[in-house]
Amino acid sequence: MEAKENRKREIIHHFGKLPVESLYTAGIAGERFLLGLKEGKFLANYCDNCDFTFLPPKLYCEFCFKEIPDEEWKEVENKGILLSYTFTHIDTQGNKLENPIIMGIIKINGTDTAFVHKLLDKVEDIEIGMEVEAVFAPKDRRRGSINDIVGFRRIE
Ligand SMILES: [Zn+2]
Repeated sequence: MEAKENRKREIIHHFGKLPVESLYTAGIAGERFLLGLKEGKFLANYCDNCDFTFLPPKLYCEFCFKEIPDEEWKEVENKGILLSYTFTHIDTQGNKLENPIIMGIIKINGTDTAFVHKLLDKVEDIEIGMEVEAVFAPKDRRRGSINDIVGFRRIE
């Protein structure tokens, strides 16, 4: 039998666009995390089996698969250390941005994971290892979304 790649002319096909929309839920742990952001809180949770704290929190430990009970949820600081950063030159719709957005990877204090979000400082003020804190949107504009965090800025 001949490989498919060699029979491309035999395969009936047409080009076009399919209108597909998707709606993903945040999940049980994700929704609880996002509702915490609406209140200006960072909620993390802890697997005592692995001695590991997740932010965003998980319903099940991704290492040992143990269900993480409610009593292992806790509020952590909205501060951390910048581990790395990069620039994005397109928006979520694929449009080129006039000014690139700086995205940081932040280890929030009291957690063992890295959290990705925008950095609000000018590039010349950004250093790996600097302390940063979350800037929340005004309370009346929060809606239980990752965008309830405007971004992170350097702590002077
Ligand atoms: Zn675990």
